[in-house]
Amino acid sequence: MQHSDLTADAIVLPKVVTPDHPLVPKLSIEEETALKNHIKDLLKRNNAVLVAHYYTDGKIQNLAEETGGCVADSLEMARFGMEHPARTLVVAGVRFMGETSKILNNDKRILMPDLSATCSLDDCCPADLFSAFCDNHPDHTVVVYANTSARVKARSDWVVTSGIALEIIKYLAKNGEKIIWAPDRHLGRYIQSQTGAEMILWPGSCIVHEEFRAVALQRIRKLHPAAAVLVHPESPHDVICQADVVGSTTALIKAVGNMPNTEFIVATDAGIFNKMRQIAPGKTLIEAPTAGDGATCQSCAHCPWMEMNSLQKLAHILETGENEILVDAELAAKASIPITRMLNFSKMIRL
Ligand code: SF4
Repeated sequence: MQHSDLTADAIVLPKVVTPDHPLVPKLSIEEETALKNHIKDLLKRNNAVLVAHYYTDGKIQNLAEETGGCVADSLEMARFGMEHPARTLVVAGVRFMGETSKILNNDKRILMPDLSATCSLDDCCPADLFSAFCDNHPDHTVVVYANTSARVKARSDWVVTSGIALEIIKYLAKNGEKIIWAPDRHLGRYIQSQTGAEMILWPGSCIVHEEFRAVALQRIRKLHPAAAVLVHPESPHDVICQADVVGSTTALIKAVGNMPNTEFIVATDAGIFNKMRQIAPGKTLIEAPTAGDGATCQSCAHCPWMEMNSLQKLAHILETGENEILVDAELAAKASIPITRMLNFSKMIRL
């Protein structure tokens, strides 16, 4: 097939290779404390700040907060990195987060614990195939999720995160724009159902959220009838339908703090429990099931790429300066346009 013939139904996605969960050597309490102190010292010596995603190991999240860095979703991580004066940003997360930081902070050094930590959404949206698909729908506005490569971002009109996607699509739909949405089809379908926007969906998915199982969730809800169900919109439609709250990582964390319920069933990466326990220590958090009828659990609600981040690797990159993220300057300039559009839009609606 010629790329110029590409329609949504004709797209054949590349096979995403999911890594095994990494084996992180266990440390004694004394060893862990010594390692954390060593990293704190290295951060100071390198004029560096640690920016971590909610899905990374709780130890890394806590260290980021203890050292004046931040733990956040990808939108907040990008914003924090831009506003912080440190010359080096250490991004604990997956590769597109480091790339986004570099795109927005061209003059800063960006280090990541493991450059092979990718994301199934990013992997299933290769730039050449996506670009050909967009060329085939020239009358559509191209909106891509932050979980994409710099080249895919550079081909888009808007970059969005789950925290702001609904508002941006509502805004575009109100202006009568037809939309190409990539790469997460579940999130795209959810947004379409909430906004009525005319959208063509790229058929990608997150291997973690796609594993949540609706029938098993129904069973757990029967066992915990007073529990509120919190679901990230990258989950399948029949899981989203059972949610009391559908939202970004930040929205789900807020829900645990604000809702009167004492029990929550949570359908997103279990790394988020670290922050939820901090803000609501007395509440019970239950992992939504990834096993059950028809399940082929690869991740079991733990992103294997997020798990590649470890304290040992943090120390190593700060000692050696290895794993720097580099993005071609011309490409970064192009990719920064749709990201900056999102950040400006977010600033506007916050005002
Ligand atoms: S949890 Fe899903 S969307 Fe997030 S990094 Fe992992 S594979 Fe990508």
